[in-house]
Amino acid sequence: MISSVLPTYNRAPLSFVSGSGSWLTEADGRRFLDLGAGIAVNALGHAHPALVAALTAQAGQLWHTSNLYQIPQQQALADRLVEHSFADTVFFTNSGTESCELAVKMARKYFYDKGQPERVEIITFDGSFHGRSSAGIAAAGSEKMTKGFGPLLPGFVHLGFGDHDALTAAITEKTCAVMVEPVQGEGGIRPLPDACLKGLRDLCDEHGILMILDEVQCGVGRTGKLFAHEWSGITPDIMMVAKGIGGGFPLGAVLATENAASGMTAGTHGSTYGGNPLGCAVGCAVMDIVNDPAFLAEVNRKSSLLRQKLEGLVASHPTVFESVRGMGLMLGIKCKVAPGDVVNAGYAHEVITVPAGDNVIRLLPPLTISDAEISQAISRLDAAAASLSTS
Ligand SMILES: *Cc1c(COP(=O)(O)O)cnc(C)c1O
Repeated sequence: MISSVLPTYNRAPLSFVSGSGSWLTEADGRRFLDLGAGIAVNALGHAHPALVAALTAQAGQLWHTSNLYQIPQQQALADRLVEHSFADTVFFTNSGTESCELAVKMARKYFYDKGQPERVEIITFDGSFHGRSSAGIAAAGSEKMTKGFGPLLPGFVHLGFGDHDALTAAITEKTCAVMVEPVQGEGGIRPLPDACLKGLRDLCDEHGILMILDEVQCGVGRTGKLFAHEWSGITPDIMMVAKGIGGGFPLGAVLATENAASGMTAGTHGSTYGGNPLGCAVGCAVMDIVNDPAFLAEVNRKSSLLRQKLEGLVASHPTVFESVRGMGLMLGIKCKVAPGDVVNAGYAHEVITVPAGDNVIRLLPPLTISDAEISQAISRLDAAAASLSTS
């Protein structure tokens, strides 16, 4: 008999009842060190006092009106994002996949309004992940996500990861945009080298097409900059955000330049909940903490510390681990055994990691993780790896 919850997830037999900072408490009382942060969502850990205060203050005042009216919290968050990014304008969503939907619509409408309605194709890359909506699965294109769900939304061209020559050849009179994650998350923590991002930007400029960055996982301080593309010095035309921006409250956004957004006039897009007072009050509190040079400097310092310790961990378990990769506090360990086995061994030692593609386990701890917690993470991962070691 089918379970009362639609069985689309492979869930671990763990049920968490409370959280505080980098820690989650299981129903049986065990305390787990959380290096997954709800897949890069709980950017400030669990129950951060500033976020709890922002949410409860707003909850006592007003939950929902509608985008029929002005929403001051939404205006405040948009102002903060515009002030601190390439963007001139922001649309709020409730998730990453909804941000993908708008990014696709925006790019197509841009060329439609410019009198080039044939420009509908968006180029994407192997191993990418852009969400589970019809546009999201068509954009990523992997058989695992698309099989059985046809007809797929047409107009996506899939290329090998980082294949610059194929990209040059793939741009045609029908291309409207390139969509890429600066650091692939689900695909296995694969950063696109700065030179690739710069090359992509140049190609887009040369052909007059739009560059869409998916920073749903790598944005909002995760890589040690507010947004990951800042490391390369380029700026996109359109950027998808979600996950960390809400710190655990469902919130997403599409940021765009005035030019790229020019087709999106009144009536062309909408959302009932997108940009609601609760989400935006929390989003403002997240931005106020993360968008601080001292906070981001700490993320970078802790990244070096964690990375250095992970290199040591990999070296001491050569039959289990192969290498470390990633940026900031978005790190991956390539495994020589099934990543699911490593994640399960972690659970047995009360440490949470997240599996990804390309035989990788992901470490996406709260950006607020302490040095002492990093040390504890390493000793727990060390014990987990020892339980799998074959030498
Ligand atoms: C998680 C993710 C999405 C989808 O976000 P949802 O909130 O699950 O819809 C899209 N792109 C990337 C890069 C992601 O990591």
